[in-house]
Amino acid sequence: MFEYPRKSGKWYKGKHEPLITKELFDLVQEQLKGNTLKTRQEKEFAFTRLMKCGLCGSGISADEKYKKLKNGAVNTYVYYGCTKARDKYCKCGYINEDVLIKQLQGLVDTVELNETGIIRKIKEEVTRQKRFQSSLLGKRTNTKVSDIDTKNYVKFLLKEGTLEEKREILGCFRSQISLKEKNVILID
Ligand SMILES: [Zn+2]
Repeated sequence: MFEYPRKSGKWYKGKHEPLITKELFDLVQEQLKGNTLKTRQEKEFAFTRLMKCGLCGSGISADEKYKKLKNGAVNTYVYYGCTKARDKYCKCGYINEDVLIKQLQGLVDTVELNETGIIRKIKEEVTRQKRFQSSLLGKRTNTKVSDIDTKNYVKFLLKEGTLEEKREILGCFRSQISLKEKNVILID
């Protein structure tokens, strides 16, 4: 994009192949403005709000860590841990998000979840998929949604869902989800 005459507010789209995408350009402009700290703080994590520290009862916060690999690529890791608001010496420890998700998925198998909005939506979605499969096969098959089907989808969304979906799922647990010594536990 170029402005002509300069400062006129009239923008034209150039004919040349852009060297970088608009998104990358905007991102770099933001960083140049020194807004990196701001964006960092605004970064939202899926599992912070509904969890508590199982040792001191403080909230849970998350942070992103970067690790440069030998091939030059950068891996991002998200860690969750106690905010230490209630006990600044809390020894709750930190848990990697991937490990956290695996543990939450394990918990889904052991408990009954509240039938709130997201669970109803999941059941509708699974029903639709079953109907789709049945239509592909060209014959009537069983499209009844079982508990296992629902829980499998819940576990899938804990990993692949949106931020909101993940939060809604945590909201379906009937007990307080707590982090204690690098393990996710349920406290009644
Ligand atoms: Zn704590």
